[in-house]
Amino acid sequence: MTHSLSPKVEAVFWFLVTAAGYFLLASLSLYTTKGADNIAAIWPPSGYFLGILLLMPAQARLLGFLAMVSASIGANMVQGIESLTTAIFTAANVTEAAVAFWLLRRREPGELSFMVPRAVGSFCIAALCASFVSAAMATLLSGKGVDFFLSWMTTVALGMLIVTPPIVMLARMVRSNAFRNVPHFMQVEAAAILAGAGLITLVCFSQSEFPVTFLPSVSVFVAAYRLGPFGAAAGTLIVAIITSFMTGHGYGPIAAMQESQKVQVFFLQFYLVTILFIALPLAALLVVQRRLAKRLEQSNRWLLQAEAAALVGHWRVDIARWAIQWSDQTYRVHGLEPGMPVDVDYSVRQYVAEDRRAVRKVLADAIRMGRPFEFQGRILRTDGEIRHIKSHGSIERNLAGDAVGIFGTVQDVTETVENARILEAARSAAERVANTDMLTGLPNRRHALAFLEKALNGARENGAPLAVAIFDIDHFKRINDTYGHAVGDQVIRRVAHRAKAALRDEDMLGRIGGEEFVCVLQRSSAQSAEIVAERVRKAVETGTAAEDGIPDATISVGLAVFDGEIDSEELLNRADQALYVAKREGRNRMRSAA
Ligand code: GH3
Ligand code: MG
Ligand code: MG
Repeated sequence: MTHSLSPKVEAVFWFLVTAAGYFLLASLSLYTTKGADNIAAIWPPSGYFLGILLLMPAQARLLGFLAMVSASIGANMVQGIESLTTAIFTAANVTEAAVAFWLLRRREPGELSFMVPRAVGSFCIAALCASFVSAAMATLLSGKGVDFFLSWMTTVALGMLIVTPPIVMLARMVRSNAFRNVPHFMQVEAAAILAGAGLITLVCFSQSEFPVTFLPSVSVFVAAYRLGPFGAAAGTLIVAIITSFMTGHGYGPIAAMQESQKVQVFFLQFYLVTILFIALPLAALLVVQRRLAKRLEQSNRWLLQAEAAALVGHWRVDIARWAIQWSDQTYRVHGLEPGMPVDVDYSVRQYVAEDRRAVRKVLADAIRMGRPFEFQGRILRTDGEIRHIKSHGSIERNLAGDAVGIFGTVQDVTETVENARILEAARSAAERVANTDMLTGLPNRRHALAFLEKALNGARENGAPLAVAIFDIDHFKRINDTYGHAVGDQVIRRVAHRAKAALRDEDMLGRIGGEEFVCVLQRSSAQSAEIVAERVRKAVETGTAAEDGIPDATISVGLAVFDGEIDSEELLNRADQALYVAKREGRNRMRSAA
């Protein structure tokens, strides 16, 4: 409301608000306490001025104090109080405002909020300290006694405790346009609750037959519960105004007590302080609790949203009750409607029969060993689909360290598993292509030599015998020249086929050159290797009738036996030399290396 004003106008505004409000309240308070031995229950001007101090901008504060001093002197003079007393009382009131303000600023440097329990505590401390200081000052300077001190302190403290909070909260609500954001029915409810508190208090304190002092306090607690700290503060203020007025005029249960007026005033003050000290912290705590509940609800909502977005669900097993809870996303992973009742056994039975035993073991091991776990299995959904599911879990413990729950996440990894399978199939196909000779389908040179290397290492380790045979088609150039390259290829293919058929399963046949092949004969002694090599040569030769238009072909074979020492290169060399000998000696024969 003061934002659009220039600083000068603003200062004048605060000066007038302070001076007028303080003068009115002080006059009213002095007037009503007149004739009642000058004993008031509350001194509202103190609370009013502290509230205004908390609201006004820093640059208006000096003028504010000036306004308060003039208003205080004015009110005292009008009420006919002599000048020395006026000066002493005014000085005490100025000091108390300064002390309270200074203490509050020190403990709560930011904007003082009555929604925060700590700030409410700081405010009470500041009010009590300030009223103590001003009571001591007024008592000492005017030479009064303990009674005066106690009376001054309690009235000032109550003035601050009861009047400041509603003023500050109301002004802030007006300034921030909070009312406009509050729905109409809530405004009506707030007005009704506060009016109700006033009415109940008025009724209770206009009779003296029943000691129903508890009823107004109940109405303040209702206001605190429904309207928060503002309800607590405004409710207490309303009850304070009505009860002090009624009691001061001899009405109500407190005035009806068979006690002196001084005791009645103390009782009233104690009554009001009790209401305030229960209602205000209670309302502040409620605000904190509601805020926490709201935050909890929001983070829970975020969790569920995150789960839905990431397609990760969660579950929790209560170990003592052996019950399980699923999150909405977990239901979706299982293809089920969220909220359907589930138990641990049902959850395990979601998995395909072969995986269930493993799931039970994972849960039992997790509880027994208390370690986090990871598990992947297949579930059979009600729609008949099999999905791959991955779970991560860990054990929850109570403060004593006992395992009380298992918390886990669940994720549908079917696509990942499927992709991995496709990738693996592609990889093994590529490997097959890289290792295979396209013409014959036999292992190619690279693969054949790698196989030989491995077989040789095995033979070296376990001392098993091993032999290598290299064979080459005889006069192949002629075949190519006579029949053409394509027929030459067919001859190569048929030689490969026949040689392969003549070998044992553990023997490897590979194509290592144009029309050159290698046989790795494992666990073959020199003698049996010779038999096998000769069998291969014969197998190629026997089918030589050109029944299918493919010309005859023979092979020459060179054999070398591993002696436990040489490397693969040397072994192949020896076989090659034996092959050369076979060629030289007329072809279509097998020769062993020396
Ligand atoms: P030898 O009995 O001494 O072995 O005589 P040869 O004519 O077979 O001589 P050599 O082994 O040196 O001949 C190899 C020939 O095989 C040379 C090349 O033209 C032919 N050749 C190599 N690779 C292929 C192939 O993939 N297909 C066909 N059709 N011919 C090939
Ligand atoms: Mg050759
Ligand atoms: Mg040849």
